[in-house]
Amino acid sequence: MSIVGIALFIIVTIILLKFNIAVEVSISGEEIGYVKDRKAFEEKIQNEVLTTENATLESVELAEEPQYKLTFLSKSESTNEDEIIAKLENDATRTYVRFAVTLDNKQEAVLEKLEDAENLVDEIEEKYGEKRNVGIQKVYSINNEEYQPVSIKTARNEVTDAIEAQIEKEEEEQRRKEQTINGIYLAVKPVSGVITSRFGNRELIRSYAHRGLDIAAPGGTPIKAAASGKVIFSGYQGSYGNLVKIDSGNGVVVYYGHCSKLYVNVGEKVEAGDVIAAVGSTGNSTGNHLHFEIQLNGQCVNPQNYLYK
Ligand SMILES: [Zn+2]
Repeated sequence: MSIVGIALFIIVTIILLKFNIAVEVSISGEEIGYVKDRKAFEEKIQNEVLTTENATLESVELAEEPQYKLTFLSKSESTNEDEIIAKLENDATRTYVRFAVTLDNKQEAVLEKLEDAENLVDEIEEKYGEKRNVGIQKVYSINNEEYQPVSIKTARNEVTDAIEAQIEKEEEEQRRKEQTINGIYLAVKPVSGVITSRFGNRELIRSYAHRGLDIAAPGGTPIKAAASGKVIFSGYQGSYGNLVKIDSGNGVVVYYGHCSKLYVNVGEKVEAGDVIAAVGSTGNSTGNHLHFEIQLNGQCVNPQNYLYK
């Protein structure tokens, strides 16, 4: 062995005695630590940082790919794999997947597990029938910041409340439709009581078919306007006794007959539900009751097509 060879051998031996060969790890050009073995470390990243074993975790992305460089590390220093892993973990972007239960494609509640969302949808369909448009949408949340899942119980309540509100709205719309004559909404029953004579009845008290509906109620009971409109008559008129006529427009005029008292004057505007008179037995009447008559373009129609069904 030459002198040069011996010298090299001594130098290498000294280096190897004082230093280890290690891999320097850096991110964006900044050194963040040292690892013993690059391949083993990359496997560790895969298994500990990038794993999506957790069912709700859709993906994990490192903030930046680490760079590696072979280097000598003094024997007094040790590698710090775990610290680097912790840093990568901390900086990584995690995308979680959750499952929103929807009503008419609107998200009502977010659940953590697909299975729970599916069970809830089945339960809702069983309860309300398949008419309700209930479904499931995947929703994504980055670093767990939005779409926090709720409990099954809370989700059930939220979806049920939304459906109940929908049903109520539909019923309200249906009622409104049924209580509307030629575009005029008969919102209010003028009095509540027993129906004593229906529309079209022929009775001893008169020789013609009954033009309205009779509802018995104690004398003095407040009579409410069934629909909004303008008072076009308030006074005494033959067999009707004390009578209020309210014109609601669109050819709809409502009569309130046999009143004991009248509280409104001609020309006054009233809202549905306003008290306009009191029940009595004036005119051609055998006892306290309201004669409730609806005319459309001058023709009497059956009030029970709209109210007191
Ligand atoms: Zn009558």
